[in-house]
Amino acid sequence: MQEIIKQYFEEFTTMSEASHTAVLKIAEREGIQMDRIILATSFCFDELNHHQAKMKLPSEQGTFIMGGLAGYPFVGEIGLNAFADHIPDGGAALFIFGSHIGISSSGEVGKIKRVGQHRHTNTCGALMKVQEHVLSSSIHKIDPVDYSGFQAEFLALRLFPMAKEIRNAEVPILKTTHLVYDEIENEILKLIINNEVLQADFPVYILGGIVINTDGTMPNYFSQKVFRKVR
Ligand SMILES: [Zn+2]
Repeated sequence: MQEIIKQYFEEFTTMSEASHTAVLKIAEREGIQMDRIILATSFCFDELNHHQAKMKLPSEQGTFIMGGLAGYPFVGEIGLNAFADHIPDGGAALFIFGSHIGISSSGEVGKIKRVGQHRHTNTCGALMKVQEHVLSSSIHKIDPVDYSGFQAEFLALRLFPMAKEIRNAEVPILKTTHLVYDEIENEILKLIINNEVLQADFPVYILGGIVINTDGTMPNYFSQKVFRKVR
């Protein structure tokens, strides 16, 4: 499996290793216990990204979920204010986020075989639909009456300026996954920087990258793009 992933991602580890390494480093640097570090994640709502056996995040405190469609932090400022209130005394916060893409054991990018199914499904299926919309000629606008399309339309609008780049990519869904990652990272940083509680009282770290989902019960992998202290 790792040989197949290597064709598309130069660097990656299991999600478990990436997140445990980050938490250990934060504990060391800040001189605090690991269980004082609370996690917020911004991943797509796909069950694969919240399956403890596939993710194995070091979430002693539980995990605050920020992610909506494709991993974008749709909880926004109000969600982040709530989270900032939950950080343990003398503790720290770690934001783990990113977009996700499936790579099947047969090497198909954007597809995997899930437990209990004998066919392959699109992963990220939601982002695949958004991409279809971005590359189509239909009108991009959010109808306030139809809230069910809101997250998809919002992302389509964000990605629309990059439509040509996506269309010309060797593997369009891989390109879109990287582009939507950039949108997620920018938004997370903006939310953290604008939050007064997080700015004033706690060490805040970010760990961002692309979650690589694999078939069946195999672990999720993570191609890390950033790990650093924000403040
Ligand atoms: Zn998804």
